Amino acid sequence: MPNRLLLKAAQSKQLESFTTRNRFTRPVVHRYVAGYTVQDAWNIAAELKADGIDVSLDFLGESVEDLAQVPDAIREYRTAMERLAEVSPGATISVKLSQLGVLIDPQQCAEHLEDLLHTAAEYNIGVELDMEHSSAGRPTLEIFRQFLPRFPRLRQAFQSYLRSTLADLASFDDVQPCIRLVKGAFDEPVTLAFQDAAEVTNQYKYLSAWALQHLPDPAFGTHDESCISYVIYLAKELNIAPSDFEFQMLYGIRRDRQRELAQQGYRVRVYLPYGAQWYPYLMRRMAERPANLMLFLRSAIGK
Ligand code: FAD
Repeated sequence: MPNRLLLKAAQSKQLESFTTRNRFTRPVVHRYVAGYTVQDAWNIAAELKADGIDVSLDFLGESVEDLAQVPDAIREYRTAMERLAEVSPGATISVKLSQLGVLIDPQQCAEHLEDLLHTAAEYNIGVELDMEHSSAGRPTLEIFRQFLPRFPRLRQAFQSYLRSTLADLASFDDVQPCIRLVKGAFDEPVTLAFQDAAEVTNQYKYLSAWALQHLPDPAFGTHDESCISYVIYLAKELNIAPSDFEFQMLYGIRRDRQRELAQQGYRVRVYLPYGAQWYPYLMRRMAERPANLMLFLRSAIGK
């Protein structure tokens, strides 16, 4: 399970300010983040596409404290979409609703999302909603429900560590949702989330089987080999074609496996973040694998 201390550090504004101003951290940042500009992201999206790998582009930023920041994020996504489908046909964008102000004003957030959804449709680009900390989880899910009938290809991330996930998935009756199944990357209390890694993995496998049998075009966002091979095994058992589901992985993690799956005929999508606000994203990656932290700390102190 993600390391709790590092997840707390992900929320520290002081640490954020120290590390983001520190030029020595750049090499480690670049392992997980495409770069600072949309051009960096387009370049990497095109490289991945040449290897048969799609992307989901994430303009980094989350939990805005002021709604005045939201239009900048919308503008950036619009700019990103102008060339995205050209450099990587089949690409999607991934959006965090806390970046669109869901924690401050859910109604305004929904209006901003609608704006993005229309622009994305014009460019033939799919939209995926990340699932964040549970404080943003319920409002995110409500907005997703509200849009699903009109935008049935909108994809929502669901976390296998949450005890409520199966009930949430089973609660859709008319339009069945497209989902991205992930284990979950935030610090959640035991009342809401399984805490034991093996239990979260078992739950992931159980929900994978459920999604393959009940939901359209599920996406499996994981680097866990036991989960990946379980999905491959189940799909074969259930006679589900590789074109009817996809694997998703994060940029910089298990690159060889990403290529290998694509070469074997599976659909693979890489979550590709870019932008200056990389700190909380990167700290969550450290929390998933604390061994990465030594590399990061050494670079931060210039060793
Ligand atoms: P783990 O058991 O954590 O990892 C399996 C193996 O993968 C590890 O042994 C290691 O070899 C490798 N690995 C995993 N993480 C790292 C790392 N950081 N650095 C290096 N190697 C690593 N979480 C959310 O809460 N909401 C989201 O919307 C969300 N979207 C995601 C989208 C995608 C495409 C992916 C792949 C993940 C997303 N996550 C999201 C993160 C997810 O919840 C997990 O925290 C993360 O994927 C690690 O879990 P795992 O399934 O890879 O399994």
